[in-house]
Amino acid sequence: MVSSTGADVVIAGGTVIDPAQELHTARDVVIAAGKIAALTPPGAAPSAARVLDAHGLLVTPGLIDLHTHVYLHVGRDNIDANSLAARSGTTTMVDAGSAGAAIFDGFRHYVAARARCRLLALLNISVIGTVASPMAGYGRFVDPTFTAETVEANPDLIVGVKVLGSRIRVGEDNTDQPVWHAHAAARAAGVPLMLHIGDPPPTITQSIPILDRGDLITHCYKGELVGRLVDRDGTPTAVLREARDRGVLMDVGHGAGSYHWGVARQLCEHGYWPDTISTDVHAGSINGPAYDMPTTMSKLLHLGMPLDAVIRASTLRPAQAIGWDDRIGSLEVGRTADVAVLELQSGAFPLTDTFRQTETASSRLAARHTIFGGEVISDSGAGS
Ligand SMILES: [Zn+2]
Repeated sequence: MVSSTGADVVIAGGTVIDPAQELHTARDVVIAAGKIAALTPPGAAPSAARVLDAHGLLVTPGLIDLHTHVYLHVGRDNIDANSLAARSGTTTMVDAGSAGAAIFDGFRHYVAARARCRLLALLNISVIGTVASPMAGYGRFVDPTFTAETVEANPDLIVGVKVLGSRIRVGEDNTDQPVWHAHAAARAAGVPLMLHIGDPPPTITQSIPILDRGDLITHCYKGELVGRLVDRDGTPTAVLREARDRGVLMDVGHGAGSYHWGVARQLCEHGYWPDTISTDVHAGSINGPAYDMPTTMSKLLHLGMPLDAVIRASTLRPAQAIGWDDRIGSLEVGRTADVAVLELQSGAFPLTDTFRQTETASSRLAARHTIFGGEVISDSGAGS
């Protein structure tokens, strides 16, 4: 697949970790015409217009962040995806409900079309998304028919439905109705539902049983005493155990209020590792404590999640969760060249949860290069 004039980019000397191909080995990654052209033994790559030196570094599929807020300039919390992608190895961001059906066209034309990374969306069951949050609760803005129709009309961008199952959105007397409506919209459109859990109503015993196989619970390690997914004795709650048994997925959704070291550790000790690692980056979390994918991934590494599993939960698994694993989340030859070059650093690194509790990790992941569609969108100075 490489022309006689050579490749466009070669990522040389790194350790490739690609869970989709069960690969964890030294390989040079050859990129031509925006696609992965070859994975060669070290030193065997053809000449290239640009060589990125990845000696001592990890080369993985471009990271996929399943929970972000990137509808920039719409609502007060959305952030700029382009700068975040370039510095974090993240090539796909899924906006989690910032847009609803009534304002989705703006997301397509003004944000996704101009992004230098891949932006997808989970459509909020509220047709106005989070634009007036938290002043406007769900109330009359919930429209399952309009939501399902909008999902079906935009299969290139919309990968699921999002519902905020917490008091701030549903109001004191509206309990679990929005979750049921979101469930109906998702099933009608044939896509997964992502449920944000938070302060009741609805309680997690009302909302989580509504979820089906392949649906996602985001904020799975949140720490509030009411609504956390561990019981007082530190074991996973019955409603979570039952959900896992029927194939419901756990998404981190770190954010500014949803990652508690104690809850995360208790759940992980019982084998409740996240299916998908995501940041919930927005204006209130991007400058800490969530920061970006490498920082959030480092927190799971610190809890003892094996490196390959952390990479899997940040590449292949989120791709599978949204049904895009035939397109993204792997370095298979012929795929679009979305690549992250990461450094696994050793030292003493403070990592803070959303309750201002800091633990010191002995290793940390940091992004060195981001390649999106074969284009190097980072410029950290490494390589040539
Ligand atoms: Zn969020």
